[in-house]
Amino acid sequence: MHYGIDVGGTKTEIAIYDRQWVCLDRWREPTPSDDGAALLAMLSEMVREADRRQGGRGSLGLGFPGVVDDRGYLIAANLPGLRSFVLEAALATSLDRPFVIENDSRCFVVSETGPGGAAEGVVHAFGAILGTGAGGGAMVAGRLLAGSGRFAGEWGHLPLPAAAARRYDLPLLRCGCGLEACLETYIAGPGLVRLHRHFGGESATAEAWHQAWLADERAAQQAHRCHLELLGGALANVVKLLSPSVIIVGGGLSTLDELMEALPASIAEQLFPGVEVPAVVRSRLGDASGVRGAAMLGAEASRRVHV
Ligand SMILES: [Zn+2]
Repeated sequence: MHYGIDVGGTKTEIAIYDRQWVCLDRWREPTPSDDGAALLAMLSEMVREADRRQGGRGSLGLGFPGVVDDRGYLIAANLPGLRSFVLEAALATSLDRPFVIENDSRCFVVSETGPGGAAEGVVHAFGAILGTGAGGGAMVAGRLLAGSGRFAGEWGHLPLPAAAARRYDLPLLRCGCGLEACLETYIAGPGLVRLHRHFGGESATAEAWHQAWLADERAAQQAHRCHLELLGGALANVVKLLSPSVIIVGGGLSTLDELMEALPASIAEQLFPGVEVPAVVRSRLGDASGVRGAAMLGAEASRRVHV
């Protein structure tokens, strides 16, 4: 058995899989996000409860929304309670077995290139999650790209291109990561809403922008054009660096058919002429992808330990 845990800012989910990656059981608990000790105790209890329900011990992988810095601390705006813990060491004392910990977006690309995923068996792939943020991860030659600092794939924190900023007269906003004018601030769900308001619209959610777009509202159309250019340019940069054959898009914005259909042309316009444009596909496993990818990484690590 393989356990995956996805620690979110508000909910934490555990899922139990068999060897064929059929989900046997899953449940959620509220995340005590501002109390690290309580969160560590809860994770430990979830694993014990999984053992009790299955009558055995499963391998374990955990996905977190953030990156671990070079001193071992988790940088995650949604989990302030863990700021004072050296995460892996703290987990090692609270959990009773080996585990793998990885950024949730990188768990996503592992899952979507695994059995039953949208890019099953693809060895050069990039996973882009467009929800409240813009996370990502890359598979290169069939391996998850971590990099020496373990944050490879953070495409959302590449900067807004100067040409687009000037053309659309965009404000340079401070990002949650501390940098200025990160693309995430403009291309994730809240970014699309910001663009709509920048062009004179009044939406408060991406869904409201979509309704205005369907109604042919001028500001919504302008926001869509600007968003598509920024998103296509950001993914074109990913293609220049990593040359994936498939880009898998997940998160709330991936449900917009118009966006998914228009993206390949926008990426192509911002690449060299004649360069192969990767296929752009929607996540097949949706919200379950992160927790499944975490379980897959945990399973792979336990195989390495046991051979
Ligand atoms: Zn940033």
